[in-house]
Amino acid sequence: MTRKIAIYGKGGIGKSTTTQNTAAALAYYHNKHVFIHGCDPKADSTRLILGGKPQESVMDTLRIHGAEKVTLDKVVKTGYHDIRCVESGGPEPGVGCAGRGIITAINLMEENGAYTEDLDFIFFDVLGDVVCGGFAMPIRDGKAQEVYIVASGEMMAIYAANNICKGLVKYAKQSGVRLGGIICNSRNVDREKEFLEEFTAAIGTQMIHFVPRDNIVQRAEFNKKSVTEFDPDANQAQEYKTLGLKIVENDNFVIPKPLSMDELESMVVKYGMAS
Ligand code: ADP
Ligand code: MG
Repeated sequence: MTRKIAIYGKGGIGKSTTTQNTAAALAYYHNKHVFIHGCDPKADSTRLILGGKPQESVMDTLRIHGAEKVTLDKVVKTGYHDIRCVESGGPEPGVGCAGRGIITAINLMEENGAYTEDLDFIFFDVLGDVVCGGFAMPIRDGKAQEVYIVASGEMMAIYAANNICKGLVKYAKQSGVRLGGIICNSRNVDREKEFLEEFTAAIGTQMIHFVPRDNIVQRAEFNKKSVTEFDPDANQAQEYKTLGLKIVENDNFVIPKPLSMDELESMVVKYGMAS
């Protein structure tokens, strides 16, 4: 059975970095067959896996060549340790809805049989907010059954995580989607782990892993590689290996109970970030 996982979180929090590094660790250390479907119009969800190999997005191909040219050999590229990658891409800037592009791209991948049964994991790397319907697509129509939210101890990241949970609650009954946990991608904020642990417990989930902030992530990125490919002996590679294993073994799937604005504010105040 393929586990279909959507990764959400505030823009810039580290969704694409964490997704690709975790995918690389799952493939390299845990022998898993992984597919990454980038759902951000920026189309930067697969660069560390493909080593900067150019990838035409589904929406670009569709716009320039038409639907019949959106074939798997054109838009799906294979990279590090056989990880397969596709990018939805976006509409022409200023025209059209990016959310619709995601729906179109996922449907086209399904019609073309891209999500083969030999896959252990499909990751949908989805941009920031679930405000617009299109970005909720992977969780709304049961395209993904599991969600992980990337957050940090920064206030805006927690607000975003709480909002994403509100969106999740809306679709959980009809689609069966569940929250598997919050990944803390550290920003070295004071008492970050404690704060995330209290927040995740309050909404009824877990902090599945605390990923330290480490400059090797940037060094690997500069070389267009995941940390695992760049330096498998590095501490940070072990962190992604551990996160991968925790995802493999996870059995904590819930419909979260997002906090009210008042509850969230008082937690933020408690951790000294209101000033
Ligand atoms: P998102 O996909 O959520 O918009 P990105 O994955 O593009 O965010 O992350 C933004 C930047 O943060 C990346 O360019 C990366 O260099 C940096 N980054 C992410 N996670 C870490 C980490 N654990 N340690 C150091 N830098 C990180
Ligand atoms: Mg991204």
